Amino acid sequence: MSFSLFWRRGITEQIIPERSGTAFRLSKGETLVVIDPRGEQVADLLAFDAGDIREVISSGRTFDYAETIYLTKGHKLYSNRSNVLLEIVEDSVGRHDFLLTPCSVDTFDHFYPALDRHRGCFGNLAAALESYGVTPDMIPTAFNCFMNVPVDGDTGKLRVLPPISKAGDHISFRAHRDLIIGLTACSAPDSNGGSFKPIAYRIER
Ligand SMILES: [Zn+2]
Repeated sequence: MSFSLFWRRGITEQIIPERSGTAFRLSKGETLVVIDPRGEQVADLLAFDAGDIREVISSGRTFDYAETIYLTKGHKLYSNRSNVLLEIVEDSVGRHDFLLTPCSVDTFDHFYPALDRHRGCFGNLAAALESYGVTPDMIPTAFNCFMNVPVDGDTGKLRVLPPISKAGDHISFRAHRDLIIGLTACSAPDSNGGSFKPIAYRIER
């Protein structure tokens, strides 16, 4: 790695602290690299068309066209209007989830009644995306980077297991449109192997 590349990465990599979220613009042709710095940490990802935020990533459309629920390098994330918003161009993990909605205060009431309530990824995404005009009811199922949700093919039973991602693993998405991105470091205990860690990301132009 050249010094200039190292330096460039050094100034552009951003950290999302544990149990928080952020939002930012990603231009057409840019690549978003989402990194799990310590391992076993989920990051919920949302993408809205910057020109019309009513257009947003759709798990249903994406599964339909990919013909699988396990998405990795080469798969495209489609919108509710069947347009490609993001394409997975690198993936060092190979296991992510697009079935489950962002964890929320209701998730904590349901699964973790003995723990302190937390607004979760849903609340973090809603807060981060508010300045872009996104309201809570506009938030769909997120693409959950590194989330490990195996599904029994016969019974349909699903489980939430610790991520298989190791420290430094990453997944990269190329933008096919100008987008508004929402991204979190997930707050739910079971999704993250029982501990909360940061998420890192960078934008490559
Ligand atoms: Zn979460």
